[in-house]
Parts: sequence; C-alpha cells; structure tokens
Amino acid sequence: MSLKRSLLVSSTSLMSSKKHQKTLSGLATARGLAEGPVFLYRSTGDLLIPEFVVELEDVPKEVARLRRAIVEVKRDLEGLISVLKQRTGREDVRIFECHLQLVEDEFLQEETIKAISNQKLNAEAAVRRTVSQIRAHFDRMNDSYFRERVLDLEDVERRLQKALAGFTNRAPIELKTPAIIVANDLTPSETVQLPRELVLGFATNTGSTTSHVALLARSLGIPAVCGLKDITAQVQPGQIVLLDGTAGSVTINPTDETRAAFRALQAEHEDLLRLASAKDSVGCLKSGEKIQLYANIQKGVALKDLQGSGAKGVGLYRSEYLWLDREREPTEEEQFEAYKEVAELGKALDPSGSVTIRVLDIGGDKLVKGISSTETNPFLGNRSIRYLLTNRNVFRTQLRAILRASDYGRVKIMYPMVSCLEEAREAACVLTEVKRHLLEEGIPFDNQIEVGAMIEVPSAALLAEALAKEFDFFSVGTNDLVQYAMAADRGNEAVAYLYQPLNPAIIKLMQMTLAGAQKEGIPVSVCGESAADPVAGILWVALGVTMLSMSGAYIPVIAKILSQLTKADLDDYAQVPARLPLASTAQDVYLACHEWMVAHVREFEGVYL
Ligand code: PEP
Ligand code: MG
Repeated sequence: MSLKRSLLVSSTSLMSSKKHQKTLSGLATARGLAEGPVFLYRSTGDLLIPEFVVELEDVPKEVARLRRAIVEVKRDLEGLISVLKQRTGREDVRIFECHLQLVEDEFLQEETIKAISNQKLNAEAAVRRTVSQIRAHFDRMNDSYFRERVLDLEDVERRLQKALAGFTNRAPIELKTPAIIVANDLTPSETVQLPRELVLGFATNTGSTTSHVALLARSLGIPAVCGLKDITAQVQPGQIVLLDGTAGSVTINPTDETRAAFRALQAEHEDLLRLASAKDSVGCLKSGEKIQLYANIQKGVALKDLQGSGAKGVGLYRSEYLWLDREREPTEEEQFEAYKEVAELGKALDPSGSVTIRVLDIGGDKLVKGISSTETNPFLGNRSIRYLLTNRNVFRTQLRAILRASDYGRVKIMYPMVSCLEEAREAACVLTEVKRHLLEEGIPFDNQIEVGAMIEVPSAALLAEALAKEFDFFSVGTNDLVQYAMAADRGNEAVAYLYQPLNPAIIKLMQMTLAGAQKEGIPVSVCGESAADPVAGILWVALGVTMLSMSGAYIPVIAKILSQLTKADLDDYAQVPARLPLASTAQDVYLACHEWMVAHVREFEGVYL
C-alpha cells in the first residue's frame, strides 16, 4: 500500500504558529546579551540535525541536496540487500527491502520537497517534518503492522540525515547569517567549527557553567545560557529570541516592549564594560601590589581579541583545540606554526608577560577522532598526561614543537591532570630527551623553559609539597578540581548544584596547594573558570595566588574590583571563610564572601551581575 494514499496530510505550518512571549530559565553561562534569529540543531542519537530557514534562491540547491541524499541511501540499501541475499535468510533482507520502499515512497519525497519549497525549510528539517507526519499517522492506526514500522521509519530517517550531513561534514557549515545557536548540547569540536563571527549566542538544553561549550563561549566573548532543558522543543528556526547570558534566560516571542527594554539593558551593559576597561594599571591593588591577570585562549583567538582586555599574556593555551576539528593529528610543523603564533601574540600583548602552552588535554568530553578510545569511564580514563605518557610519539612531537616556538617569545609548558609523582618524573625524562635531540640538531629553543603542573586532581593538591620539587609553577584548574573532588560531572546540569568552588573542601585543597608551593618557593596561579568569578577569584588571590588566568572578556571586571582593594583588605578577606563556624556549607561561605565584597567594593553588584 502506498503511504500517500493512507496518509492524512496535516497542512499546519510549523512556522506559522503564533505563541505568547515566554521566558525560559537556565544557567548563566557566559555573560552578555544577544538578540537574533534561532539556528536550531536537533539531535537524533549522535546526530545533530540543523534547522534553519532557506533563502528563496537556495531552494533548488536544497532540493538537489535532498535528491542526492535519497540516491545515496537507495544505493547503500540496494548494496546491503544484495550482500544479505547471498549470505542470510530472507527475513533479514525483508527489513531492508521495507526500508528501501520507504525511501522510494513518492509521498515521502514529494512532501519533503514541498516543505523545502513552501515552508523554506532546509532539507534536514524537511525530512524531519515529513517523517514526523508519517509517524503520527502510523501511531494513530489501530494496526500493529504499522506501529512496528515506526522503527523502520526512524532507521530510514537516520540514514537520510547522515547522508545529508555528509557523514563527517557536520552541520555548522550551513550557518550563513548571524544567529543564536540553539542545541541540545554541543561538543567542543562542533563548537569550534562554527563560524565565530556569525554566532550571536548559545542556548542549550544541557550543559553546565564549566562544560566546554561554556568555556569556549566565554573565551570568544559570546553570551551563552546552558541547562535550558527543552529549549530545542520550544523554538522554531528563524524565530527571534532574546538571550541574557548574565541572568541565564532566553525569551521567546518577545513583545515590542520587551525588545526595547532588552536593547536598553544591552546599551547599559556595554557602558559598564567600557567603564570596567578604563584601566591604566590592570591588576594593581589600591595599595600598589600587582596581581597578574592573564587570558585563557585556544586556536582561533587573535591579538585583536585580547588587546583592550588588559591581559598580560596567555596563562592557558588549550592546545587540544588543534586536534579537535580535524581527522588526523596535527604534524610537528603545523603545531610549531600555531605555538609560534601564540608566542608572538604574547610578546605583542606585553613583552614582559608569558605564554603557557598546555600539552594535549584530551579525554573526558574532549574526544578526538582516531585517538580517543571508547572507555567505560573516559573522565577517569587514559586522558591528558596519562595519554601522552602512553603515546610517547605524540608527546615528543608536541614537546618539540613547543620548544621550537620558545625561541619566539617567553613560553612555558604545562601538564594537565597530573595525579602522582611518577607522571611528573616520567614527563621530565621525555622532555630531557627531546631537548637533547634539539641540541644535537642545532635547533634553537629556551633551554631554561619553565614547566608547570595543573592541579586539578585532588591527589595532586594533597601531594603539592612533593610535586612542588618537580615543577617551576602550579596552575589550579578548578573546573576539574571541583569535578573530581565533589565527584560531580562538570557538564551535567543535574549535578550543577554540587559545582561549588567555594565548598570548604575545595578551599582546603587550594590552601594545601599554596602551602606546598610556598615551601618550595614556586608561584601558584588559577586558570579554572572560578578565576573569573569576583567572589572566588579574589578569594584565591587573598589566599596567596599570584596570577589569575581567565577569558579575556572577564579581565576588566576582576581588575576593577582589585583596584579598589588594598593588601590589608585582602588579608581580611582571606579570613572570611575561617571566621565561619566549622560546619559551614559552600552556600554559607559564598554568602559571607559576597557580603564582604558588597561592603568593600563600590557597585559590586552592578559589576558582578
Ligand atoms: C580546569 O580544569 O580548570 C581547566 C582550566 O582545564 P579545562 O577546563 O580545559 O579542563
Ligand atoms: Mg581541566
């Protein structure tokens, strides 16, 4: 039976539904305000399905794309059927013959083309729409045969969507005009592929303030709201939304009044940042002492993005982004070019500053095609320095490239996820060997290059005194330190309430790190997101941290707060958690610290909120 005959076609347009203004609340992930049309990615299993409005002149191209995908799926299915016919019984073959029938069905093709031509939906969204119609019809039929066909339909849709995505050619390419990206979630590699100048903001169903899309949004200065639960189901492609990354909200179908008020807030926000960046001595306390404020960056951030932020240099260069958007490992030469560029960028920012290149930090949610293995628990698996020590060639190549770049600016090396002394010593042996080869080859590099460890595993904080003998500096990665100390996935909004940088347990780990470092006379910086939090970041400084590294956009705010405090003020602030009763919660500590800030810093709430 042809599907066309048996279907009741709903003529309701997806685009025409008029709804009332609605505001969704999520997690304030990256500050700033953005207004713009939605560019939607819906997920089906591991597939991201983009939904956007197609320009009239692009309709034929979109239809051609659909036809190509259909041909490709048909060819695949026919191939599969012929192989199965030779090998297996008729039952298996019948399933795929049914899939082939579905793909060839005139109704599916015609309705999908109509959705592209009339509704101006992109091919992926049009397929999704037709499949939903057919599925709704199957569901309504009082016939188990049709109800069972729903699974076949899903399978066929996946094949078509995969063919449309070109398998590896992920959807972000389609973004052609400025938009707010709405998705269930985005992986770091999907995020880096987006044309940054066209992304006005990010709004995701899942994710937390330290998930990687959040970090990336902040470092690019793009407002973001995560943890919105079901925003992908509430918006339509092309619909205008207002995104407030500072308050953590997204307004759908805003009224004219709301839009006007939002624009006024946007102007105020820009004024505030201008005020905050009116700086002559970034990082200077009122009493004259200097706190170093550095930027966290990755591939793609240029000098112009950091100039004006007041960053003295780069406190964390996330080198893994060189791996994330490609099919193969970057060569030594490609890496060298990237590190040289960042060394020169650091020099141009401030010749007395430095650039800290963190070696490949993959694993957890930063998965790299061809490298990351499927582990049962990747967050506790063979990641970061562990991976490099078990893949020495990758490690050696990267160290060579970094050392070569050290001839072009003041470069430091940093190891992520150090958890024991053995790793520190083994890594030191590899570095010595690489240096020896470079010397033999007569290649110039900084032989005195400083090497630091990230403190982001609780065992490293507990071992700080011993580890301090092996390194020139520590940098506390609070994103992971909180994750591992609290046993709370940093990207999971369901446990975001446990994400407490000011939990007394974390403060203790920070104090242990500082005490261990002080014994050996090495400096401690913080490069986790808490460095940019005015309450937590300033507390780390008060406790003895000498450098904060954060997304460039946040530096002016932290600098402005520091400029209003004296060294004596900071000594007093350091005592705030200690003055609380022993059984204080993270919330108690936060409130006491916040209260202290409000009493000591002018317009604290204005700057912070
Ligand atoms: C951290 O863990 O705090 C950190 C800075 O590293 P990343 O966020 O890249 O894991
Ligand atoms: Mg980390």
